[in-house]
Amino acid sequence: MAGKALGRYFYFTPLVLIAFLLAQLPELEAASPLYRNSVASESPRAVLEASKILRRGGSAADAAIVAALVAGGTSPTSSGIGGGGFLLGFDSKKQDTFVLDFRETAPAGLDASVFEERPLGVERSGHLVGVPGELRGLQALHQRAGRLPFSELVEPARRAAADGFATSRHLHNMLVWAEKKVKTVPGLASIYFSGGRPAAVGARLKNPGLARSLKKVRDDGVDAFYQGPIAAAFVAQARAHGSPMELSDLKNYQVKTRQPLCTNFAQHRVCTMPPPSAGGLMLMELLQLFQPEELRSLGHDSSAYQHLIAEGMRGAIADRLRYLGDPDFQTVDTKGLLDPQRMSLRRSMISATRTHGLPSFGLEEHGTHHLATSDSDGNIVSLTTTVNRLFGAKLNVEEYGIIQNDELDDFTPQKVMTAFGMSRSPNRPRPGARPISSMTPTIIFREGQARYALGGSGGMTIATNVSQVVLNLLAFSMNPQEAVSADRIYIPTQQETVRIEKGADEQLAKELRARGEVVGRQKFSTTAVQVVSAQAAGAPSAADPRKFGGAWSDE
Ligand code: GLU
Repeated sequence: MAGKALGRYFYFTPLVLIAFLLAQLPELEAASPLYRNSVASESPRAVLEASKILRRGGSAADAAIVAALVAGGTSPTSSGIGGGGFLLGFDSKKQDTFVLDFRETAPAGLDASVFEERPLGVERSGHLVGVPGELRGLQALHQRAGRLPFSELVEPARRAAADGFATSRHLHNMLVWAEKKVKTVPGLASIYFSGGRPAAVGARLKNPGLARSLKKVRDDGVDAFYQGPIAAAFVAQARAHGSPMELSDLKNYQVKTRQPLCTNFAQHRVCTMPPPSAGGLMLMELLQLFQPEELRSLGHDSSAYQHLIAEGMRGAIADRLRYLGDPDFQTVDTKGLLDPQRMSLRRSMISATRTHGLPSFGLEEHGTHHLATSDSDGNIVSLTTTVNRLFGAKLNVEEYGIIQNDELDDFTPQKVMTAFGMSRSPNRPRPGARPISSMTPTIIFREGQARYALGGSGGMTIATNVSQVVLNLLAFSMNPQEAVSADRIYIPTQQETVRIEKGADEQLAKELRARGEVVGRQKFSTTAVQVVSAQAAGAPSAADPRKFGGAWSDE
């Protein structure tokens, strides 16, 4: 009897299970996926190649690696393997938000005194070259969240460099703009100015040197960049222009993991980059200063709103200069800076009719690229990468097609600190230190689920641009395309207190002046914010029209 019952149990269980599963089938079919594969980037070719990887089953991390490497070749003005960056990632299975810091680092032999003599001529520009972290950062991302072999993720960028890629509108514009400075850099004229003129939009360009480097990295791994002939050529080039960099600096380069800064705002959780970025702290300050209802009631296009956030942003910029330095070299009290009491005191000092100006300090940069990816499992990557200025230090490791960054120029000059009434900068050049950055890779969650990944490019405007887009999304409920396209204000580092966009209403300028602002016009903008919208039911991902990027989702 017992045997019979047991037999029946074993016999019936699979049947019951199959019946149960069949009963669920219509529901399983009908259930739409929660998350989508998506990518947004300033480089259309990077979007294309990353989308192919996502369609092949690659993870958000795989797609971000592909996009970063491709963009390094197709948008060499902004980023590349001779630079570095920051990223925030979200691992949906572990429900873990992680930070990778692959910022360029000062060599061990750094000579701080040279930095007070800036601007340095070309013969000393090697002093500004930081030890590049880009490939180590992408390797660390792959180790953490990659799915496909690393070599397969390098190949699209190698192919683009070897077989050619179309000149993007942004690259063309930058070549026109920087023609005089860039044309004279050995090895760049033959690629970007063939026939003596800046490459036209759509013209096919090849970079055989970069293809050579990427082939080595594809075949031998990332170590092939940090040791051996590529490393030797990189160091020799920097040293020829005054850098004290040694082979050991490259060999010892390390990616750092950090804890994100997070806060709640408008029923969402916003997580962003901690120091050595200042961008994240600046965004956190804005979100802690204001209530979403207050901003909403003023209206996005009102001078009252624009003035309020301009005041908040100027306070954040001042905090950046006064308090932020490499956290591995000194205490950076982010908790104290964001203390609710401190923020409410600051809020009480903001008046609708008075403007707090900033001393002129003239720090502007123009390189950098933000890209974001998501996959259908709910993983997300928000990655900002840079070589600092356009074409970085304008030093090209010709044989290997590597543009060297000038990231160490982000150490604050003493004359800026004097303008702020301080005798010493927390962001001063020190051997092994990472300069403070504006880059603001950010992820936004709702009810524990990743919703948006965003970030931007444009030097000192990165944090203020990203902050405005976050407010557009969360306080004004704009969709991503509206949020990145809406007019923004800029906080200049000299002359005016605020700049509005070229086409903005004169009435806005008038009203801002009445609030004490000195208003200028941003004649053109090479700054951009990209947003990936990760939830399948959400509005589409979006690229900023200001830099002609692209966005793709697999709906
Ligand atoms: N070096 C700058 C930073 O890290 C970015 C350069 C730029 O966007 O122009 O903040």
